Parts: sequence; C-alpha cells; structure tokens
Amino acid sequence: MKLPIYLDNHATTQVDPRVVEAMLPYFSEKFGNAASRQHKFGWVAEEGVETARSFVAKFLNAEPNEIIFTSGATESNNLAVKGVAESYKQKGNHIISCVTEHHSVLDVCKSLEKSGCEVSYLRVDKYGRINLEELANAIRQNTILVSIMFANNEIGTLQPIEEIGKLCVEHGIVFHTDATQAIGKIPIDVLKMDIHLLSLSAHKIYGPKGIGVLYVRKKNPRVSISPILHGGGQEKNLRSGTLNVPSIVGLGKAIDICANEIKIETERISFLRNLLQRKIFETIPNVWLNGESENRIPNNLNIGFDGVDAEALMMGLKEIAVSSGSACSTSQAMPSHVLKAIGLSSDEAHSCIRFGVGRFNTEEEIEYVAKRVGVVVEQLRSISPKYKVRKQKEELVSI
Ligand SMILES: *Cc1c(COP(=O)(O)O)cnc(C)c1O
Repeated sequence: MKLPIYLDNHATTQVDPRVVEAMLPYFSEKFGNAASRQHKFGWVAEEGVETARSFVAKFLNAEPNEIIFTSGATESNNLAVKGVAESYKQKGNHIISCVTEHHSVLDVCKSLEKSGCEVSYLRVDKYGRINLEELANAIRQNTILVSIMFANNEIGTLQPIEEIGKLCVEHGIVFHTDATQAIGKIPIDVLKMDIHLLSLSAHKIYGPKGIGVLYVRKKNPRVSISPILHGGGQEKNLRSGTLNVPSIVGLGKAIDICANEIKIETERISFLRNLLQRKIFETIPNVWLNGESENRIPNNLNIGFDGVDAEALMMGLKEIAVSSGSACSTSQAMPSHVLKAIGLSSDEAHSCIRFGVGRFNTEEEIEYVAKRVGVVVEQLRSISPKYKVRKQKEELVSI
C-alpha cells in the first residue's frame, strides 16, 4: 500500500490511464481544429469529437445533437440557468432552486436576482432532501425554471429527480439538474426522468479537468437557451470557442468506461464505503452520519465526530486526503451551507469530514484509514476539556 491515500473523489478524481491513452494522439498527430472543414487534420479531430459526443448521448439516452461541450459543470450550470433566464424572459422571471445546490448554481441565482429575477430556494429535511409538496407550492404562473441537483457533493443525498421532472412537465417548466456527482454512479435516463438540461464535469468521473457537458433537450419539449459566449458559433452557437479536442476525447472515453463498468464499479465502491462506515461506527463512539443512508451516491461518506475539530482531524491525518466539505468553498472559516441546511450548528458543521471513495481505492487502504481516524479522533478528544466534561456529565445523568 502506498501513502498518501486519496479519499477526496468528490473534489476530483485521478485520470484513468485508459483515458490518458485515448487523449494522447490528439495532442500530437491528430492536432487539427475540429472546425476545419477543408482538410484531413480537421476531419480527424472532428471524428474524435463526434465519437465522444455519441458516447455521452448514449449514456444519457439523449441524441448527439443535444450534447454541448463546455469547460465543466460550473460553465454548464451558468449556461443553463442564465441561458433559460434570458431566453424565457417573455414568459416569466421566476426560478426555483434549492439551498443545498453547488455554488455554481446558487451564485448564478444570486446574480440573476440582482438583475430582476425572483428565485425561490427550497429548504431540505435533515437528510438533505427537498419536499415535493413544497416544490409544487412554489410553482407560479411566471416560473420558467426549476434547477435541482441530482446528488449533493457534500453529503451525497439524491433528490427525487423523476418526480421533480414529472411536476415540471405538468406545469410546462424547464427542468435543469446538476448531475456532476451522480454521473457514473447512478443510471441516468434524461427521457425517462424528464430532464431538460443536465450538467456534468469530466474530472469527477476519471476524465480530465476543464471539460464538461450541458445536455440541452431538443424535442418534447424543445428547450431554447441563450449563449453566454459569442464568437465562432461552435456547438450550435451555444458555446463559441475552438473545441478542446483532446479533453473532449478524454471525456468521451471516461463516459464510455462508466457505461461499461457502472454496475460492477458501483458494487465495489459501495462495498468499500460501507466497510469504512461500519468500521468507524464500530470503533469510534459519538459519531453521526450526515445525509441519508439509503438515498445517496455509493461513494459518499460524510461523518460528524462529536467534540472534534475537522481541521485538527485532517492535520492529524496528513497521509490521508479527505475534506471537510466542498473544495469549492474557499473560506474555510464559513461552515458548510449544506451542513447548516440539514440542521447542524456551526460547531457541529466544523466537526464533519467528507470521505469520497473512488475507482482506485483498495480494501487495504480503507482498513488503514478507519484505524488512523480512530487513533486521531481519540487523541483529539483526550486533549479536549470540553468534550471530556460533557461526556462525564452525560454519564452521570445516565447512571
Ligand atoms: C465539482 C462540481 C461542480 C463544478 O465542477 P467544475 O468542474 O469545477 O466546473 C458543480 N456541481 C457539483 C455538484 C460538483 O460536484
């Protein structure tokens, strides 16, 4: 076993060697511009792009012409939400989203509020799930978009996507979902689930960073969005700019691997995640699970350690890469908006660690991590006067 151990697969993943191999020729002999129609260099690059596009389409049960390549889920989320707000402004200006969304949706909504949109942010229960009745009640005459993530990046909770899609169809509202954490882990069918717009990023599924997709429904209903970038008119005018051919090829390969291996991989990863969870709960007292044990992605484990500061715990676990929340929140002093939303106090939110199991983790690593977490938690608690006094009081009460 090699140290350090990487268990932060919600933040990013190691690029699969098969993906690297697929990409390499597109940096060298196949370097053409996919938009060059006049010569072979262009055709070869275009062929790489179109093969990748059809892999993505097939995986989502979509059509190739519904796949738009972007720089990642952040851009896809921006394009989806802003694109609908602009394109449907004759119809209305009301958007429904949720308090536990990724910042690349929340901050776009905040910015749209400044320019005249109204946004309703659905609350979540203690497991991080929205309430469908609350969603139905939030729908108005002027609602143009519902944007709810598929799986949460901190606590792994899955939202009732199919039911949300159904509600949106009944009311003639566009439904966007940020599926960045669900892709490759949960089977996704955009038709069956009534998804109209879907965002994903390659680097969360063992592909390269800086490349992603926005799926845009072309029929039943045809969704029209306005572009953010203007220029050469690539990607059906929705995303101008020379295509990043090597990364697109890598994304396609990463998706193709997911398509072929999703079943065995999900089994393997949930086995490792469950093992880690069981070991931690068996050996460490006073811990709690954030999110729901059933309705969550198979690789997520977010645990609170009573009386332990997450930063101190991570310092003690230097040879293990984990996270105290979203890698995207730069200011660590702020408690996670997701953990606050499920009802944790600031203190409790600062006691939580997110473990993200991935394709390249082994059982040996999981055993090691469980042991080390136990050791460091005990050390930290033994020097925490607050924790000791509280536990002694609790013991007295229980006697
Ligand atoms: C990582 C992530 C994003 C952002 O992806 P980028 O590749 O950084 O643009 C958006 N949403 C969710 C749920 C994520 O996990």
